[in-house]
Amino acid sequence: MKTRIAVTIGHSSRSRSIIREMALSGASIFRVNFSHGSPEEWVETARLVRSVEAELGRHFALLGDLRGPSVRIGDLKTPVEVKAGEVVRIVHAAESMGGLDKKIPLPNEEAFKAIRKDHVILMDDGRVAFRVESASCSEILMKALTDAVITSRKAIVIQGQDLGLPSITEEEVRAIKVAVENDFDYIGLSYVKCVEDIAALRGILISLGAKEMGIVAKIETPVGVKKLDEIIDAADGILVARGDLGMHFPLEDVPSLQESIVKKCVNKGKPVIVATQLLGSMVDSPVPTRSEIVDVVLALSQGVDVLMLTGETAVGKYPVETVSWLARIIERYESEIKPFRRMISEESSIGDRFAFGIVSLAESLGAMIGVFTKSGKTAERIASFKPDCRIISASPNVKTLRKLMLLRGVETVEVSSSEYEAGINELEVKLSRFKNIPDNTIAVLTYGFRDEPVHIVRIRQIRRASNEL
Ligand code: PGA
Ligand code: MN
Repeated sequence: MKTRIAVTIGHSSRSRSIIREMALSGASIFRVNFSHGSPEEWVETARLVRSVEAELGRHFALLGDLRGPSVRIGDLKTPVEVKAGEVVRIVHAAESMGGLDKKIPLPNEEAFKAIRKDHVILMDDGRVAFRVESASCSEILMKALTDAVITSRKAIVIQGQDLGLPSITEEEVRAIKVAVENDFDYIGLSYVKCVEDIAALRGILISLGAKEMGIVAKIETPVGVKKLDEIIDAADGILVARGDLGMHFPLEDVPSLQESIVKKCVNKGKPVIVATQLLGSMVDSPVPTRSEIVDVVLALSQGVDVLMLTGETAVGKYPVETVSWLARIIERYESEIKPFRRMISEESSIGDRFAFGIVSLAESLGAMIGVFTKSGKTAERIASFKPDCRIISASPNVKTLRKLMLLRGVETVEVSSSEYEAGINELEVKLSRFKNIPDNTIAVLTYGFRDEPVHIVRIRQIRRASNEL
């Protein structure tokens, strides 16, 4: 299976046995959503993931997803139930009784000031909608357009409004520290607006001594889409956040947004994740719908690196079954899909042109690729051309191998050498003991192209050793 599966850990899946089952079913990226739960729970999740990783002898990426500048309602003592057509009241407060009182607290001053008559307010990935009937400085009346159950601290979206909230707050810096201290591999930056947001996060990471932490920019709003090119260039990976995109844009725009974001990422050789409601019905059902299966196949055919489950594994009834279904669809279709392939041009870097050459060589020989990589960059470049063949990447750096989980079709193996030639020698020996590499398989072995008198590209027939890895 080349395409990666990411799962979000929540109360349905925060146990060693479920994490293990999901990993055995195909998950290799584990996401902690810092919008929910406590730092103790985040730390516990990281510990469980690392313990399963060690037991299974694999590499997993841990992604910590920052809340971002979202607007949330305050605390409700009891949930408020409303029927479509009913009018509810928003008050400027941090908490309220809720229940039959039907007053919704909204502590955020900026949001309170921005909401006007006729604005549409959305919650729950757009499943719940209201239209504002009247708005004053102390009270907002809004009519429910759908039935809804409103619970504490739910995020709300004011459609079409950018409140200009700060991207990284003090609270987020605390979450970033937890991620750094607990060996997370990627930070998800929600509601990215521009490169400066990414630069700010990079600066914080450097100041915390975590410059190797990857940044996944979540494209969720019109500003993010507008600045897409520069955001792709600055980030280490891109996430197509269909949940928020579907609230900030008309819902029917989501397919074309997904297509253009994925295409741009593939063209620029940047890893791309598609997230939210992939198998959404599996929150309550052990079997996906037909249309969900078609949606997953569409994403595969676009050449995405990662498919990310959110509510399905975080709060759903069938976390393991959902991962199994996703794996089953990937396995059924992946071999017949030829995703759109990145081309090189005169402006491409020497590193990219070298990677393209290695891919062409391996494909024309019917060979696999073995790449020694310290930072992961060379493996990323090779993977960006989406070769048909296997790519096995070796590194002395576990952090690098974990980060490579974000790339479609890269398998990983740890080596002890930190020198290039010794690295490919060691990789070659490991390949002879690797699972499912038939005797006499041709391997093209190399490492990142640098300015040096001799660069080794070795073509080797792998003779199987008896002691399998
Ligand atoms: P979220 O992001 O789950 O953090 O909201 C994903 C999305 O918006 O689709
Ligand atoms: Mn979102």
